[in-house]
Amino acid sequence: LNKNPKILVVEDEEAIRTGLVDVLIFHGYEVDIAERGDIGLTKALSGQHQLLLLDVMLPKVDGYTICDRVREQDKDIPIIMLTAKSADEDIIHGLKLGADDYVAKPFSVAQLILRIQAVLRRSQKNLINSSAVYLSNGAYLDIDNLSGHYNDVTLTFTRKEMDLLTYLFSHHQRPVSREELLNKVWGYDRYVEIETRTVDIHIAKLRRKLEADHKNPESLMTVRGAGYRLLIAEQSIESSADMK
Ligand code: CA
Repeated sequence: LNKNPKILVVEDEEAIRTGLVDVLIFHGYEVDIAERGDIGLTKALSGQHQLLLLDVMLPKVDGYTICDRVREQDKDIPIIMLTAKSADEDIIHGLKLGADDYVAKPFSVAQLILRIQAVLRRSQKNLINSSAVYLSNGAYLDIDNLSGHYNDVTLTFTRKEMDLLTYLFSHHQRPVSREELLNKVWGYDRYVEIETRTVDIHIAKLRRKLEADHKNPESLMTVRGAGYRLLIAEQSIESSADMK
């Protein structure tokens, strides 16, 4: 959802790490690094990255353990393992622990970038497995086409508005805080107080589109002290439950 996804590279071999950083930056990604597994694990659990690139053999804590621990907390974040060439057990073990893909060393840069792009695309798509979403008040959203309708009125949305709705939809079981939205939809690393206005302004605009009375919302709810929650229609619950 972010313009420049931030990738965490956990790799102890300096030459490989430096090469990865250069390549990723060249392709427009933001990059964070860790040279040791324990530091990598802490960073990986911070929720600040959109993708993890994990070497297997690392000092202190290995890549499998990082993968395993991250998956306990976050089922969605894409993980690519860097494995030794032709080590099938490595690959299978990594995938069993919830890695999305692997790249065997020595890897080609072009192949690695393609894998990263594919995994990121999938992870953003998989938030919802259907492009059609119904809210509890009967409003309909066509996510891929940035459109929808409500009360026989055709609606159009900006990409950011739809990203915001998509995130709320895929986490509809709970309220989502402004800070989380700023982090996941806007890509802010830290909570910046003034920026919470950005979220509120977008919510207000969306309510004018999606609610009969924007002052008394029936679907895009405010949960006092917790954030915003999107109430969705029964027929949409299955597609959100199927998300990765
Ligand atoms: Ca290593």
